[in-house]
Amino acid sequence: VKRKLKEMNRLPAATTDGRQVVLFANAGSLRDIELAKKHGAEGIGLFRSEFLYMESSRFPTEQEQFEIYKQAAEMLKKPITIRTLDIGGDKNLPYYQFEKEENPFLGWRAIRFCLDMRDVFKTQLKAILRAAAFGDIRIMYPMIVSVEEFRKANAILEECKAELRERKLLFRESISTGIMVETPAAAFIAEELAKEADFFSIGTNDLTQYILAADRGNQKLTKLYSPFHPAVLRAVAKVIAAGHKEGKEVGMCGEFAADARAVPLLLGMGLDEFSMASNEIAAVRYQVRGLAAKQAAELARRALAAGTEKEVRGLLER
Ligand code: PEP
Ligand code: MG
Repeated sequence: VKRKLKEMNRLPAATTDGRQVVLFANAGSLRDIELAKKHGAEGIGLFRSEFLYMESSRFPTEQEQFEIYKQAAEMLKKPITIRTLDIGGDKNLPYYQFEKEENPFLGWRAIRFCLDMRDVFKTQLKAILRAAAFGDIRIMYPMIVSVEEFRKANAILEECKAELRERKLLFRESISTGIMVETPAAAFIAEELAKEADFFSIGTNDLTQYILAADRGNQKLTKLYSPFHPAVLRAVAKVIAAGHKEGKEVGMCGEFAADARAVPLLLGMGLDEFSMASNEIAAVRYQVRGLAAKQAAELARRALAAGTEKEVRGLLER
């Protein structure tokens, strides 16, 4: 079985009629990079950098981060998408006192925190820029709601490059910067964002929560919290189309990307890259290889026309 899986790992994730997609892994540590390798991931679609911050007793230094990112790149030798610090919301730091918020998920988190805590942000960006000299690393900003936020983040990135140049340190000049589309605002302005971003990755865990106004962790809302809701599906389709219109790759790094019922639908919508926990890659690879892109497109067309979640599920069950 082990050998079979290994052989399977090497086969392309291509449909019976030849459409190929990319299967990436989500990672939150160096150990996860190891796992991604083992499971035949073609890269990392989401490197959750916050583990570095949460496991530390103070904000990790540029050098500490540089070494971890560099190690990740050298271990994998494949593309790695580093998501910049996504802290706040439900995620706290042991050494930083967040003010209590009425609505943490609607509060000072992710890119909002980073744009305000400029030094913390710059430390991370410089570490990433330096590590990117040693591998195929790209940057992804979380929780973006406006074009301005993306521009601000990129302007700070340029400042970081200037400082590294000044310090005569090795770094990558041309690094891709993408947007994690996980807010309804980002989905609504996807056309505008696509003109400026190098790539999109749809974060359905948060996108679902925000579109349906349903806390992703609330046990009472598990029925309501569903990415199969037509509103979420239409947002996803819109983001993919907007990215493609500008010739940008669109991935998904939320859990939806590995859902067996969702895979044909996402394939049919044209999703380019599926990023998931490493241990889910084999099953998705197997599934994709049994699908026909043409049929998947038809399925997506019909699911997007459905007005209720029940109809959507009915289509997918068949
Ligand atoms: C998401 O929001 O879909 C996502 C992948 O990020 P996280 O689960 O870390 O919020
Ligand atoms: Mg998220």
